[in-house]
Amino acid sequence: MKLSFKDRIAIYYMLATALIVAFAFLVVFILVKQTVYQQLDSDLHYEATIHLQETTLENGRPVFWDKEEWEEREHREVQINPVFVQVMDSTGTVVTDKSPNLKKDQLSFFQNKEDNEHFNAYLKNELIRQIQVPVKMNGKVYGYIITAMSFEASQDVIVRLAWILILCYPLILIVLFFISRFLAGRSIKPIQEITQTTNRISRDHLNERVKFPDNKDELYDLSLSINSLLDRVEQAIERERQFTSDASHELRTPISSIRGTLEVLIRKERTREDYEDKITYSLGEIDRMSVIIEQLLFLARNDDGHRLLDNSRQTEIISLIDEVINEYTVKLRRKNIQLVFNAEGIKNFQIHAYYGYAILNNVLENAIKYAYADSTITIDLKMKNSRPVVKIIDEGIGIKEDDISKIFNPFFRSEGLEHKHIKGTGLGLSIVQKAAQAIGARIEVDSIKYKGTTFTIYF
Ligand code: ADP
Repeated sequence: MKLSFKDRIAIYYMLATALIVAFAFLVVFILVKQTVYQQLDSDLHYEATIHLQETTLENGRPVFWDKEEWEEREHREVQINPVFVQVMDSTGTVVTDKSPNLKKDQLSFFQNKEDNEHFNAYLKNELIRQIQVPVKMNGKVYGYIITAMSFEASQDVIVRLAWILILCYPLILIVLFFISRFLAGRSIKPIQEITQTTNRISRDHLNERVKFPDNKDELYDLSLSINSLLDRVEQAIERERQFTSDASHELRTPISSIRGTLEVLIRKERTREDYEDKITYSLGEIDRMSVIIEQLLFLARNDDGHRLLDNSRQTEIISLIDEVINEYTVKLRRKNIQLVFNAEGIKNFQIHAYYGYAILNNVLENAIKYAYADSTITIDLKMKNSRPVVKIIDEGIGIKEDDISKIFNPFFRSEGLEHKHIKGTGLGLSIVQKAAQAIGARIEVDSIKYKGTTFTIYF
């Protein structure tokens, strides 16, 4: 059977209460029963002791010594629960005296009962409580005084109490079930609201948020963390949307530009230079597209979930930096940039070849791209806390302070119009960031506009 949460809470609560109430009822019942018995037994004992004092021996058998006075007193006293008194000989067979309220009846003597023991018996089918007290003189038993009282009324109280408790028990539990079900329903209402809101939230309704409950309790915390999760999801989806639209824009632009160039080219006969010029331009655009596609593939491949770490080869950091520098010898010479690499006293350290290369290659490429001609680029390799730290310092155009936090965003180019001649896609540093995340590296950027930029990579 599939129970709702509030039903389950109500049932657990009811079961726990059922045990407690059952125990409480049992205690009440036992206490009342014991009190009733105790009251009756002490009355019986008292009566037996009184009558014992009024007994004397006649022919070796106990009798009441002043029967008239005794009978008179019996008549005088108003007795709510009349006491039956009977005197018997030592064998318990002959009745020597008895109270007038017994009339023709007599109380039975029970040989198997202990002296002074209280027990239940019957007098003419009526339930009575009885006690047999021996009449002793000098240690010898001459007979017995039996006192008894009707037990019907007390028994009635006990039985009635038992019935009341038995009937109340399920009634209490049923009422309790519905009350706790109602209360549980009220307390989980905020959860139902959270479920309804989250059900409504889809890719197209990401701006909806869970309403906060009035009390600052656990449910408030839950709503808070769901809302902050939704904030993060919304931001991630927004980033993804932005990325897709930027990527398609970046790819569409060179395609339309190549198309336009070729369309103009075939309209009429051209000179050889014209053809060479336009085709070279188109090839340049195709190269740009290839770079973008390659960079996009890197970012897509290394997206969380399908990270491609197949190339997990480790390599020595100094030789990796040398390898990256060698790639740019031509470009460095073309801009007449002097490159200084300081790695003195550094013991070699192994880093991830694939991601290490991606980081160093992109940062150095930028340093060369954005450095002024005839300047110096310095690569400093140091060890800090037994980890390598690489600083790539250029003397170049620098980055506007406000843009430093944005340069790792895909397709972001700081003041791109200001340096149109420097080609770029805005994806290089996104790759650097992805690669750094993959190997747990950290990157810091310091830059002064028109002076230069320093990238510090903590491997
Ligand atoms: P891009 O292909 O445009 O170089 P990146 O993602 O590599 O793209 O860099 C993003 C932007 O950060 C660049 O467009 C540039 O404005 C800025 N930038 C990065 N490195 C440097 C640097 N060494 N000097 C000045 N600006 C830089």
